[in-house]
Amino acid sequence: MTKLQWIDEEIAALKAAGLYNQIRTIDSPMGAWVTIEGQRVLNFCANNYLGLASHPRLIRAATEGMDRYGVGPGAVRTIAGTFTLHQQLEANLAEFKRAEACITFQSGFTANLATIPALVGHEDVIFSDRLNHASIIDGCRLSRAKIVAYEHTDVADLARQLHEHTAYRRRLIVTDGVFSMDGDIAPLDQICELAEQHDCLLMVDDAHGEGVLGEGGRGIVDQFGLHGRVDVEVGTLSKAFGVIGGLVAGKQSIIEWLRQRGRPFLFSSAMTVPDVAACLESVKILAESTELVEKLWRNTDFFKRELAGLGFDIGHSATPIVPVMLGEAPLAQQFSRRLFDAGVFAMAIGFPTVPQGKARIRVLNSAAHSLDDLEKALVAFQSVGKTLKVI
Ligand SMILES: *Cc1c(COP(=O)(O)O)cnc(C)c1O
Repeated sequence: MTKLQWIDEEIAALKAAGLYNQIRTIDSPMGAWVTIEGQRVLNFCANNYLGLASHPRLIRAATEGMDRYGVGPGAVRTIAGTFTLHQQLEANLAEFKRAEACITFQSGFTANLATIPALVGHEDVIFSDRLNHASIIDGCRLSRAKIVAYEHTDVADLARQLHEHTAYRRRLIVTDGVFSMDGDIAPLDQICELAEQHDCLLMVDDAHGEGVLGEGGRGIVDQFGLHGRVDVEVGTLSKAFGVIGGLVAGKQSIIEWLRQRGRPFLFSSAMTVPDVAACLESVKILAESTELVEKLWRNTDFFKRELAGLGFDIGHSATPIVPVMLGEAPLAQQFSRRLFDAGVFAMAIGFPTVPQGKARIRVLNSAAHSLDDLEKALVAFQSVGKTLKVI
């Protein structure tokens, strides 16, 4: 019995339960098609909503950025200074999101870890949607505030909890904008009204809303017309924007405070030069034209309609994220393997990412797909669905 034997046992248990993550190795750019183990497959796994991850304009911008500024940022920005490039990206993102100001982080995950503990502490309370993203949950825990989980998207329950928890210094409501496993949207207009009635801070994580919702992909705050009424929008540059990085947009004073007290800003180095240069180009592409966002929605509407028509249970998504509900994790894994054999890369998702018994194939639509790609994928879904007696 060695001191690490428990890890072997835990891993064996994960494999037995069909919950062990098998990571595919990709040997091509991230696009509508990817090469995995020498096989060209259609890709429905990436959050690359607009196909920007391998866009020629981003590649060129990253190269030009490196020619001018090199690669690395040197240290954290408060110590080594900050490139004009980072400031430009923050200014352009604020303008795009129609927010007062913006600050960038290394990732969406660290943006949440920075923001929540900077806003609330142990004398405070956070109201958090039960299905919020792991990085929100971890940010809440780091803050040491009391955490009250309200039922998923349930405004009546949130109102009840707000009435029951009043004796705190500060109160913060935090929600995902789009929930990443079901593709449903938070009722942000109603949540915003409650936040105003109860004088609470309001924060939304728009990771899956940017590039998808609102005018030209400006996100959930734009979709609901809530500019100036949501205190903080957290976002990521790794999904629709196609690169890597996190952002927080919102009131000037909050952004200024995060530059002073956001721990991942103070103690972890900034995004690299090619990342920032490529992100600047993404924002430019989005600001120039709504074409990619429109194509994303055309693809999404078509694919959902056809999947439902084939008899699949596709949940209640309101976005390009489509859960194909299968139930038990081993069935979802088997479905994913067979899809792969038929040339379609679509991931099985199981516990703990989704509840037990709610395993699924998670389909991510993208503007990168052509109609022909979608038709090919539907043939594969139908054939695997029939073989496994799901439809
Ligand atoms: C993906 C995601 C994140 C993490 O973003 P990264 O930039 O990949 O770290 C944070 N919050 C939500 C809601 C997400 O979906």
